Amino acid sequence: MDKTQVVVIGGGPGGYAAAFRAADLGLSVTLIDTEKNPGGVCLYRGCIPSKALLHAAKLLNETKEASAWGLHFGEPRIKVNELRDWKNKVVSQLTGGLGTLTKQRKINYVQGLATFKNANTLTIKTAENDSQEIAFEHAILATGSQPVKVPSLWIDSARLMDSTAALELRDIPKSLLVIGGGYIGLELGSAYAALGTRVTVVEMTDGLLPGADRDLVAVLQKRIEKQFEAVLLKTKVLSLTEQRDSVKVLLEEEKGKQREEPFSRVLMAVGRKPNSANLGLENTNVKIDQKGFVEVDIQRRTAEPSIFAIGDVAGEPMLAHKANHEAMVAAEVIAGHKAAYEPACIPAVVFTDPELAWVGLTETQAKAQNRDVQIAKFPWAASGRAMTLDRTDGLTKLIVDKSTERILGVGIVGAGAGEMIAEGAIAIEMAALASDLQLTIHPHPTLSETLMETAEQIYGSSTHLYRPKRS
Ligand SMILES: Cc1cc2nc3c(=O)[nH]c(=O)nc-3n(C[C@H](O)[C@H](O)[C@H](O)COP(=O)(O)OP(=O)(O)OC[C@H]3O[C@@H](n4cnc5c(N)ncnc54)[C@H](O)[C@@H]3O)c2cc1C
Repeated sequence: MDKTQVVVIGGGPGGYAAAFRAADLGLSVTLIDTEKNPGGVCLYRGCIPSKALLHAAKLLNETKEASAWGLHFGEPRIKVNELRDWKNKVVSQLTGGLGTLTKQRKINYVQGLATFKNANTLTIKTAENDSQEIAFEHAILATGSQPVKVPSLWIDSARLMDSTAALELRDIPKSLLVIGGGYIGLELGSAYAALGTRVTVVEMTDGLLPGADRDLVAVLQKRIEKQFEAVLLKTKVLSLTEQRDSVKVLLEEEKGKQREEPFSRVLMAVGRKPNSANLGLENTNVKIDQKGFVEVDIQRRTAEPSIFAIGDVAGEPMLAHKANHEAMVAAEVIAGHKAAYEPACIPAVVFTDPELAWVGLTETQAKAQNRDVQIAKFPWAASGRAMTLDRTDGLTKLIVDKSTERILGVGIVGAGAGEMIAEGAIAIEMAALASDLQLTIHPHPTLSETLMETAEQIYGSSTHLYRPKRS
């Protein structure tokens, strides 16, 4: 039987990062994943392919809007096969690169499906259908998550897609119903809408993107309502029926009014669930909570001392950068370092157009928790850089502790918000005061100046936004 100090199950941004860190710390490492190369959901069917398509979408939107500045492009000719090939090339280059990095670090990579025989042995069913066992001192479980399929709605039809199928981009459908107004539904809906699909999004609750502040969502929703055919809130999908050339969808509005509508395709994007089943965890002392997440402590150790868990399988938020950070902690703890997972904040980014990003405390949370906070906002209509981009549809806001002036939260909606939010994250991690942001010279003309100007507002007016003093 093979023996290793560390075995990592799952090669996503949690698993491969943990394997790399453990190897860099001098441990012998085996990394197991079902794919030929590491990458996981993030690289094969999540973050990366979706952002490649969203980049294409952004370009398409911009060429249309450029006519307002005297730049007239013809109708774009979209060759879906070439676009798909480019997206796939991005994925294969990145995953191939990870394969090389795995080899360079002398990590034993096994393509196969792993299950626990006990707390120190794994059984691996390899790609060649062989079965092999491996003994380990420590295991890091990083098996990720999968799309939730609502059983009462799921039909066996190629017209019904989950996010993985939608990212395959088989074609550009005439119409698409996106079930679920979360970030995955809105991102994929935005990509298809830019390619020419008539997209409708249906959301059961009264708002898109639960978790984000409503004033930020309002800016995004205003634009999405122009890009999409319809945004149906407080609306339920009751049933899907496959027809010859469409899926017939029965919708129920808030007041119980029902109507049927046909769509060429339907995308179910109602959330994700952790991959904690069928792993043989019952042969160990690992505990799973009611939602299916593996329970871990601050060092990402499970109830079984030899087994750690990280990433989507180990709890919310199910985001690649959270998985990556936990990976460092787990590998370092195994190597005997005093590491712990205790981030002050985890940024969230929705890569729609405009992007929406937030980090730390939201205004909604501050209200719910009765926190004594001061909120400052800077509309991008007052930003010179936003004007030069013709993207004044943006808002930057700060949530600041009233007595200490510490920055507790940052929210941004607008073009490029995803790149800017890291400044908010570092401010929160370093316990920065609003005055730290205010007094940091930001380069001009950039959208990052809106963070500085928002901080200025905490102390009164900012250069480009006059607020009369209250008497
Ligand atoms: C469409 C979409 C867009 C997304 N966009 C973003 C984004 O922009 N930013 C962001 O931060 N996050 C995004 N996410 C979420 C992100 O992909 C996940 O949070 C991240 O991939 C989780 O990483 P992980 O390492 O926990 O597991 P995963 O990436 O899920 O990888 C787990 C791996 O384990 C393998 N595995 C499972 N069971 C076994 C087993 N028994 N044996 C061997 N291997 C096994 C799986 O095949 C998989 O390869 C997106 C997700 C989707 C679906």
